[in-house]
Amino acid sequence: MTTNTAYINRYLDTRGLCLEPLTFTRAIVKGIAPGGGLFVPQVLPRFSLDEIVALGSLPYAQQAACVYQRFGVDLPVQKTAQLMALAYGDNFDSPAVAPVVEVAPGTHVLELWHGPTSAFKDMALQCLPVFFSAAIEQLRAQGEAPEDFLILVATSGDTGKAALEGFADRAHVNIIVYYPHGGVSDIQFKQMATQRGANVGVYGVRGNFDNCQTAVKGAFGDAAFNEQLAAQHKLALSSANSINWGRLLPQIVYYLSAYAQMVAQGSLVAGDPLDVCVPTGNFGNILAAWYAKQLGVPLDRLFCASNENRVLTDFINTGTYDISNRAFVLTPSPSMDILVSSNLERQLFELSGRDPAAIRAWMQDLSTHRRFAVDRQTFARLREHFSADAVTNDESLATIKEVHDHHGYLLDPHTAVAWKVAERLRQSNPVLVVSTAHWAKFGGDVYRALKGLPAASALPPAVATLSGTELNAHIAEKFAAGAVPTRLAELDTLPLRFSAVCNSTYTDIETAVNEWLQGHTTNTSLKRR
Ligand SMILES: *Cc1c(COP(=O)(O)O)cnc(C)c1O
Repeated sequence: MTTNTAYINRYLDTRGLCLEPLTFTRAIVKGIAPGGGLFVPQVLPRFSLDEIVALGSLPYAQQAACVYQRFGVDLPVQKTAQLMALAYGDNFDSPAVAPVVEVAPGTHVLELWHGPTSAFKDMALQCLPVFFSAAIEQLRAQGEAPEDFLILVATSGDTGKAALEGFADRAHVNIIVYYPHGGVSDIQFKQMATQRGANVGVYGVRGNFDNCQTAVKGAFGDAAFNEQLAAQHKLALSSANSINWGRLLPQIVYYLSAYAQMVAQGSLVAGDPLDVCVPTGNFGNILAAWYAKQLGVPLDRLFCASNENRVLTDFINTGTYDISNRAFVLTPSPSMDILVSSNLERQLFELSGRDPAAIRAWMQDLSTHRRFAVDRQTFARLREHFSADAVTNDESLATIKEVHDHHGYLLDPHTAVAWKVAERLRQSNPVLVVSTAHWAKFGGDVYRALKGLPAASALPPAVATLSGTELNAHIAEKFAAGAVPTRLAELDTLPLRFSAVCNSTYTDIETAVNEWLQGHTTNTSLKRR
């Protein structure tokens, strides 16, 4: 199929309850299937080795457009290319967008943090919002009238900022983010509180992340509140969480791009096998690697790296997913702190031979017994692709120091987990370690690591009073760690726009929404930036 073919793919529901497969635009606007299933593409495209290598000579935005076309998105070819140019342009501080760097012989790092918030969520959240707006416009042009959307996000820190930055000033959407008041780092707070854009809001919530999430879920589930928003503001609630296919598809692109880059750099001969090691939480990133492998990228082993929340590692090693007796642990890699890994459902759907009855049964077991066990054949297929291991908090910090001492490269705590697991599981293939955050997003733990301090220790008095930005500047200077990205370095100089704090019942969340709506015109009329 050539890139000009207007081929349209459709999306199935993993639980088989959505009877009519949906187009891409409908699947991303819906987010989740009725009945709780996730959307997966009906047909997977294939790329020849030559086609993958040829991608290496295109700018990243064009690589992405090419992959999207092959996936049969129901938008005009020209439109898709324009949207990709918006998503992956000078909002990234590397012309390669997702560059591959050889840090040690045979160990390459895929840097996914060159976007505006310096974390890997940008790879998807710079892209999904432009497609979301375009999807609404196209559905309206086809005579349907979906409402404008109000996206509510509960965040432990990083996703909130990436979502704000992605949706800021996009047409037909508004976004309000709720974070635990006092429960995010100084950098994370300032990143959110200084967010630009006319269609954005940010609230602290008195409570922890769990309280935040429960309260936001409560607002989603409140029928009267949903009706009031529709009647008074012509708004429908939506979430931008990582189960939306519009967040998965952009992640497949960088695995094709990485392989093509490595061939162009002479690190691989076209066709050589490459192992990938991914610091994993909700299983989105590593699932994208599995899809890239199905598309034809010569990936061999997929290493799933866990922190002390090792439910996925135990699952991959035993075939049983069990949270019946598992505590949630706080780690220096908070974006991997999970119990229920939501994108695993897609992987199991694929590995079970696309068996929605099996998925329904496993998900039912998970919700009633807090555990499920897959059948032998599915487990065997899982083992064909994946290996897994877990790293303790202190091991992850020790890895940051080791890699900095030996290779002069500073890892963030999430990437450090993957580095260590790659070291343990690798055999003869070169390894691509997927790096999901710039170190300066986690300056406190990076400082502890470099000073040889334990993970949960208090920072020494000399640095304890510094702002996050000042601490980063100190680390950069003292440990020759290279420049801190401008958007993090300038945070102390930007005006704080959002400092409101609310209580943590769902009615408090709703009151905050109404208060915010009074102060804002929703942005139907705003131009896309
Ligand atoms: C979200 C995130 C992860 C986990 O990615 P999944 O796709 O959820 O597995 C890892 N590291 C960082 C820094 C993240 O933000």
